[in-house]
Amino acid sequence: MSESVKSELINLLDFDRKGLQAFFVELGEKPFRATQLLKWIYQEGVEDFQQMTNLSKSLRAYLIEHCTIQAPEILLEKIASDGTRKWVIQMSCGNRVETVFIPEENRGTLCVSSQVGCALACTFCSTAQQGFNRNLNVSEIIGQLYVAQQRLADDAKITNVVMMGMGEPLLNFDNAVAAMNLMMDDFCFGLSKRRVTVSTSGIVPAMNRLNDVCDVSMAVSLHAPTDELRNQLVPINEKYPLADLMEACRAYAKAGPRRHITFEYVMLDGINDSRQDAKALIRLLSHVPSKVNLIPFNPFPQTNYQCSPMPRIIEFRDTLHNAGLVTTIRKTRGEDIDAACGQLVGQVKDKSRRHIKLQQMRAGNAI
Ligand code: SAH
Repeated sequence: MSESVKSELINLLDFDRKGLQAFFVELGEKPFRATQLLKWIYQEGVEDFQQMTNLSKSLRAYLIEHCTIQAPEILLEKIASDGTRKWVIQMSCGNRVETVFIPEENRGTLCVSSQVGCALACTFCSTAQQGFNRNLNVSEIIGQLYVAQQRLADDAKITNVVMMGMGEPLLNFDNAVAAMNLMMDDFCFGLSKRRVTVSTSGIVPAMNRLNDVCDVSMAVSLHAPTDELRNQLVPINEKYPLADLMEACRAYAKAGPRRHITFEYVMLDGINDSRQDAKALIRLLSHVPSKVNLIPFNPFPQTNYQCSPMPRIIEFRDTLHNAGLVTTIRKTRGEDIDAACGQLVGQVKDKSRRHIKLQQMRAGNAI
C-alpha cells in the first residue's frame, strides 16, 4: 500500500479505551467492541482485522477498508555493555526519537519520548539543544511500548514506564494522557499506576489538570532549590516559579493515598551541589511528601557543565538523608550508547530555530 493511501486510514493505535468506545458507538456498534479490539491488538498481537473473529463480518470489512494498526518502526538498535537497549524510532516527516529499555533484576523500565525534540530550554539537557519539531501522537507514544515489547519478545518484559525520554509530556497533554491510560488499561499493557511515571519540568497548570484525569506517579525535574538558580537551569521556572510549583506538588500528592512526588536533581559541579544548596532543598521540600533522586550529570558534546565528583554527591545525599528525606543516587545506565538521562537526541527537524540560536550564542561565547 502506498504511503499516501496508508496515511488516510484511521490508525487505531491513536485511541485509548474511551476514544475507541466513542469510535465504535459512532459506527453504531456497542462500546464493548473497544475491549475486544484492545485485546486483539495488545494481548493477542493480532493486526489482521480478518482474524478478529469475535467481530461481525461487516465490522471487520469496515475496519479493513478504513482503519490500520500502525506502530512506528525501529530504525536502529544499540545494546550497551550493561544490557540497556536504545532504539532509534522513525516517526513521520523524517523525525526520529529515542526510546530506552533499562533491564534490572526485578523489573524492566522503558523510558518513553513524548515529543520530537523539546520546546523547553533546560541548559544542561542535550535534547533541549536540538530544538523542537512537534508533539508525538498517541500511536507514536504507545507505539514505543508496542514495538519495544515485540523486539524484546521473551527476553524481557516491560514492567515500568517512565515518561522521561525526549520532550515535555505535559506540553503534549492529551496524547500523553491517552497513552498513559493505555499503559494502565487491563486489556492493554495493564501496568499499575505506581509503575507509570510522568516526569515534568514543572508545567503547573497541566500538573493540576492531570490530577483530575489520570492517576500516575509524578516526578518533577527540580534541579535547584531557589528561583534564582532554577531560572538559569530550567528557564520555564520564570513562568512557573517555585512557590507555584510546590503548591501544585502538594495538591498532587494530597489527591491520592500514599502519594509522594519524586524530585529529580541533576548534580552539576559547583552549580547546585553545595551544602547550602542541600539545606535550601531540605527547607523547600519540608511540606511535600517527597523522594529525591540525585542524577549524576551526563555530559554531551558542547556542554560547559561537569558532573559533581561522587564524594560530593554522596555528601549531598547524606545531608538530605539525615534530614529525613528518602534520597537515592540514580545509577547511570547505557552511557556507552548515549542512552543516559539527557543524552537522547534522535533526529529533530527543528522548527524553533533554537539550535541555530545556540550555535550563534556559542560562537559569541555567551554560554
Ligand atoms: N521534560 C521532562 C521529561 C524529561 S525527563 C522533564 O523535564 O522532566 C529527563 C530527566 O533527565 C529530567 O529530569 C532532566 O532534567 C534530566 N536530564 C536532562 N539532561 C540531563 C543530563 N545531561 N544529565 C542528567 N540528567 C539530565
